[in-house]
Amino acid sequence: MKKRIAFLGFAMLAVAGLRAIDDPVQYVNPLVGSHSTHSLSTGNTYPAIALPWGMNFWTPQTGKMGDGWCYTYDAEQIRGFKQTHQPSPWMNDYAMFNIMPEASDAPIYDENKRASWFSHKAEVSKPHYYKVYLADYDITTEIAPTSRAAIFRFTCPEGKNFVIVDAFDRGSYVKVIPGENKVVGYTTRNSGGVPEGFKNYFVLQFDRPFTYTSTADEGKESKNLEMKSKHAAAAVGFQTAKRGEQINVRVASSFISIEQAEQNLKELGSKTLEEIAEAGRQEWNKVLNVIDVDDNSDVDRLRTFYSCLYRSTLFPRSFYEINAKGEVVHYSPYNGQVLPGYLFADTGFWDTFRALFPLVNLMYPSMSQKMQEGWANAYKESGFLPEWSAPGHRACMVGNNSASVVADAYLKGIRGYDIDALWEAVKHGANADLPRTTSGRKQWQTYNRLGYVPYDSINESAARTLEYAFDDWSIYKLGQALGKPEKEINVYAEHAMNYKNLFDKSYNLMRGKLANGEWAPNFNPFKWGDAFTEGNSWHYSWSVFHDPQGLIDLMGGNDTFNRMLDSVFILPPIFDDSYYGGVIHEIREMQIMNMGNYAHGNQPIQHMIYMYAYSGQPWKSQYWLRETMNRMYNAHADGYCGDEDNGQTSAWYIFTAMGFYPVCPGSGEYVLGAPYFKKMTLHLENGKDVVITAPQQSDENRYVGALKVNGAEHNVNYVKHTDLIAGMKMDYTMQAQPNRQRGTSAEAAPYSFSKEYKPAAKGKKKK
Ligand code: CA
Repeated sequence: MKKRIAFLGFAMLAVAGLRAIDDPVQYVNPLVGSHSTHSLSTGNTYPAIALPWGMNFWTPQTGKMGDGWCYTYDAEQIRGFKQTHQPSPWMNDYAMFNIMPEASDAPIYDENKRASWFSHKAEVSKPHYYKVYLADYDITTEIAPTSRAAIFRFTCPEGKNFVIVDAFDRGSYVKVIPGENKVVGYTTRNSGGVPEGFKNYFVLQFDRPFTYTSTADEGKESKNLEMKSKHAAAAVGFQTAKRGEQINVRVASSFISIEQAEQNLKELGSKTLEEIAEAGRQEWNKVLNVIDVDDNSDVDRLRTFYSCLYRSTLFPRSFYEINAKGEVVHYSPYNGQVLPGYLFADTGFWDTFRALFPLVNLMYPSMSQKMQEGWANAYKESGFLPEWSAPGHRACMVGNNSASVVADAYLKGIRGYDIDALWEAVKHGANADLPRTTSGRKQWQTYNRLGYVPYDSINESAARTLEYAFDDWSIYKLGQALGKPEKEINVYAEHAMNYKNLFDKSYNLMRGKLANGEWAPNFNPFKWGDAFTEGNSWHYSWSVFHDPQGLIDLMGGNDTFNRMLDSVFILPPIFDDSYYGGVIHEIREMQIMNMGNYAHGNQPIQHMIYMYAYSGQPWKSQYWLRETMNRMYNAHADGYCGDEDNGQTSAWYIFTAMGFYPVCPGSGEYVLGAPYFKKMTLHLENGKDVVITAPQQSDENRYVGALKVNGAEHNVNYVKHTDLIAGMKMDYTMQAQPNRQRGTSAEAAPYSFSKEYKPAAKGKKKK
């Protein structure tokens, strides 16, 4: 019998070991990146208590109403639990309201007075479950979310308890319905990107009758059961007989109507909080389990990895609902109508075209299909694709990178949506400008005429030019794949080479140019902003995703190109902040990281390390990628080195850990770096697996000695998407010294447009 027990114990251990891999959500820390301020971002994230791509997120709210820094790790008090849709503190929130339990003699509406002390030591933060002890009230709050609803449970002390429903201050409404133990209402608070009449309707269903009700207008209490005002709120009271009594609240919301909010409440069914949390845990594990990491040598790295994968699968937000007939419908932030079909929101393509959307296309193609349908709907409803959606068109950043988001999905084989509309959309967006937003292209006429955006016509002109050129290439490749005639698409191929117009040979860098063809005066390659966007020329000169070979040729060959890449790390972190009139946080994040002028905390340079793969020195990619992963990321509250930005900086980590990265979305290639774990398995939706092994890998053995793909020597620095999704086995031999032979030939270099495209000689252009 004893023996049998011992055997059982062993079996259980083995099972426990297996479960560790089956339950990756245990490694996710939603607080990563929340230790941020205006002046220094370690992510600028908040704990999103939500399902993958959920319509609503919930977050404990430490900041004041309207403060984009809604949860900061060093805060000491919580003033509510906010339903949030905020993509970034810089864009701020919309459709928000909060809920706050209190134990007091009378309801406290004032958000400063009602705030309660809390401790991270009395806080449990999981994507699918959040719990915190509100010390001033002796109330424990628990939350478990679905996509559009959530269950709250307040464990209260004996006596009078209240729940405040704060609908915020830009025109709101609450109604207390005592007979139904219900509070309904709406908030209109937003930060732009919505039409007139935009509302977020909510319904709260309590599990016991109210012993007290009131409403408030700007904090002034009223006994009216209904309040419509600039700042409406409601309070409902409960008398508890003993400490530990619980109040359960089922909450849902809708962008469409109160009735639809009631419909969305059905997501909870009759499930308990535990059951909703368990369903959420399983939902997260389904999404996280597509990438198995089989390497327990450092649990912190598993935590960082799965926390990054969680951040990569929140945005773009599902901005659609399921109506009573079971149909997918959405409120359009573009025209205010309720329309059929999918819609997604809250992403800035300037950030996310780079790695986030390629990650969705590779690992979650069925989600990508819905997203593409959503972008097609955005175009149909507004005449433009968004560049920064939050939730409709906003004015932020530069470029016309929706072209890349659309092209990469189609070129990666995603189908089942209205690609004809999207083809019209990308062509239109390249030749139009939606005023008061950054959708379409600013200065598209001058760009089309001169081949660059002139420095003297608009700010950040060089960044715009470089991105437009890449976007033109994306349109060209999409047009090719769709079989569009040459006369329709050749102009985009020609314009794809426009990056050359801003290359200043005397510096070997990109530079702003005046409309008259002269260089912009007083060039300082260390100047942030000005001709560039949140970066300097050293950061932006690599933004030739589609034609690194063309850039190498401009610089004068591999040796110079490699020296220029090296210089980014060798240079001290000097900067000129005069364009901004002060140190913006992205500059500070470069300055303090001790990586020279490499600025991983912002997006423009995030692909740069992979550029050595094009110029015969892939071991330098292998070195710096691991440095960046080890030094710029962790699984704690300060876990990023700058704004996380809606999955982009996380997706960089996911790809880089897998050992490849989509330097040029749309090219169908991933550029090789080096694997970070001993074994990873990517479970693709088509049923195929990509198995990546690197048994010797360690911080010391960071260099690729050899790589076999499906058993055959693989000496080029890329893999093709079509080969990956057919199922692939990548077996690495890792070593402590660089292999200076492997991947050094010209043939080893990944995709460059100039190798396949020869522009027609000047004067011989086909009509
Ligand atoms: Ca950024």
